[in-house]
Amino acid sequence: MRPLVKILGETDPWGKVYRTCPHCEVSKPLDDFGLRTFKNAGPGGEDVVTNQSWCRPCRSPRRR
Ligand SMILES: [Zn+2]
Repeated sequence: MRPLVKILGETDPWGKVYRTCPHCEVSKPLDDFGLRTFKNAGPGGEDVVTNQSWCRPCRSPRRR
């Protein structure tokens, strides 16, 4: 079964998807957010793929 993809973001004219991180409030390409999969979360039992809400730097633990 094909997973359902739900991405929240803005698409620029070149088709690249950006999202504003609610933590650092910087608009970043979706590559900086990563994806998460919810197993069997779709209406027909499909997996649902969605983006992480925070960007990678905000999600990674502080090192200092
Ligand atoms: Zn961030």
